[in-house]
Amino acid sequence: MASNAFKNSLFIKESAYKLGFLSCGISKAEFLEAEAPRLETWLNNNHHGEMAYMANYFDKRLDPRLLVDDAKSVISLTYNYFTNQSQVDPTAPKISKYAYGEDYHTVIKEKLAELLEIIRNEIGDVSGRCFIDSAPVLDKAWAKKSGLGWIGKNSNLIAKQQGSFFFIAELIVDLDLHYDAEFATDHCGSCTRCIDTCPTDAIFAPYQVDGSKCISYLTIELKNEIPSTFKGKMDNWAFGCDICQDVCPWNRFAVPHQEHRFNPHPELLHLEKKELEEITTEVFSRVFNKSAVKRTKFEGLKRNINFLKPLN
Ligand code: SF4
Ligand code: SF4
Repeated sequence: MASNAFKNSLFIKESAYKLGFLSCGISKAEFLEAEAPRLETWLNNNHHGEMAYMANYFDKRLDPRLLVDDAKSVISLTYNYFTNQSQVDPTAPKISKYAYGEDYHTVIKEKLAELLEIIRNEIGDVSGRCFIDSAPVLDKAWAKKSGLGWIGKNSNLIAKQQGSFFFIAELIVDLDLHYDAEFATDHCGSCTRCIDTCPTDAIFAPYQVDGSKCISYLTIELKNEIPSTFKGKMDNWAFGCDICQDVCPWNRFAVPHQEHRFNPHPELLHLEKKELEEITTEVFSRVFNKSAVKRTKFEGLKRNINFLKPLN
């Protein structure tokens, strides 16, 4: 007879797939032993740049039991955002695919809350917290531990059948479950495409990314001016950067998402170079009202677009 933990785990995974999640794996909530020295070295080398939140909650980031009372299990979930659509004007400042549609924080938080409710209705009094791209949780490490993929040389989680264009989320619950085996193999092999094409040399060695040099950081997280050393190296990215995922051979297996809320705002893909360069607050509010791009605010996007212009 299947144990309750096994039955409940199966139920949770089936419910997650029904809600549209791409994959789901479960780990015991415990101290992430292997990650501790890695995180410490990364922080000591200041590869987090101005992202002070990365350095905060050091202990909590490594141990979910310090984050959620009586935590027993970490349920890792992925949600596809891949699309074949792209900006029509090839010279327009580029926006990362994940920000084309409605802000993933909103969409996935709702899905996680729904999943937790389904679990409660079926299993009983379960307490838990939902996390989506939230600083205190080492999402890729948990996803790998839960068997969802390996962490590639570009530091993204990669799944053989799905590539890497997905968000990673977690539900941390006070329920004992059946735990998946860690994804123990690495399928990057001798490939170095992501390292060779990263325009800012942020991937300074295999599996090592200097976050403070990454275009995603420079265009989204960095609040000050973008350092002039990056002038001419941004490959025309105005919000985020998809290069090290676009070139990854595993992403040939990515299939377009089915989430209508991630469909681009009707105007977004048609904004031409000049329109983006001359973007007004009205256009910004209309086109990016629901998108993750609003994180930079109008001034941030404007700063990024101006930085892409060549010096006269
Ligand atoms: S997202 Fe872009 S800048 Fe950042 S590591 Fe990948 S290729 Fe380099
Ligand atoms: S581009 Fe190559 S080396 Fe980089 S993550 Fe993909 S498979 Fe690994």
